[in-house]
Amino acid sequence: MDILFAIPASVMVFALGASIGSFLNVIVYRLPAGLSILWPPSRCPKCLNQLKAYDNVPVFGWIFLRGRCRYCKSKISVRYPVVEGVTGIIFLLIFLVFQVSTLTIGYWAFCSWLLALSLIDLDTMILPNPLTKSGLVVGILFQMVVGFLPEGSFVALVNHLMMAIVGAVLGLWLFDAIALLSSIAFRKTAMGAGDARLAAMMGAWLGWKYLLLASFIACALGAVIGIGILIMQRSRQKLGQKIPFGPFLALGSVITLFSGEAILSSYLRLFFPAS
Ligand SMILES: [Zn+2]
Repeated sequence: MDILFAIPASVMVFALGASIGSFLNVIVYRLPAGLSILWPPSRCPKCLNQLKAYDNVPVFGWIFLRGRCRYCKSKISVRYPVVEGVTGIIFLLIFLVFQVSTLTIGYWAFCSWLLALSLIDLDTMILPNPLTKSGLVVGILFQMVVGFLPEGSFVALVNHLMMAIVGAVLGLWLFDAIALLSSIAFRKTAMGAGDARLAAMMGAWLGWKYLLLASFIACALGAVIGIGILIMQRSRQKLGQKIPFGPFLALGSVITLFSGEAILSSYLRLFFPAS
């Protein structure tokens, strides 16, 4: 990328990501509460005063207000600017890796869905149906576009459509199987139906191979962090609290997006050195 293009483009991409992050904050707050996403405009949750446009500027609005509402001075969670900043950074990383391409736009959308789902799962232990379903549909459309665009080929479009569907079905089966096995082994369900629907959505976006890799990474991270939390809770006598699995699946997906190819090829080289 030309440096004269790369610097202003990077600033714009970060700003775009941070603005999407601001919108994700609204979705994460309103969707589980059954409120409208589009109306009313952003308000302070305490005093219900409408925010000024310049208070709404991602990341900087919060800094200028020093984390307090302009009207009632009640604290605004630091999570809002953090989510905005993280979304901006993820958008920027995707842009730097995948450049100006269909993949970049698609992965921006995929990661936005993953972020919203992770935060809602952390807050409520629920992965809302409307989000996983719409994410699945957009993922299938994305695969069709990626198949069709380079050569305008309908055969490639159908191939990509099939890949997306196979990935989605595998995701659903895989996590239903895990839920079934764990309910037999531990007499309680380790995975919710929401996790299986999220896995289906990931399968559409990633294809079956990378879905398996993302799920494996998610389980490994989940095990390590889950055991860590268990140890911490034991010392606080607060056992039995559930840990949402959605954020791990999302993290596995993001790691797979950035380094899936490298991980799979070094894995294959390890077991099939000749090839
Ligand atoms: Zn207020």
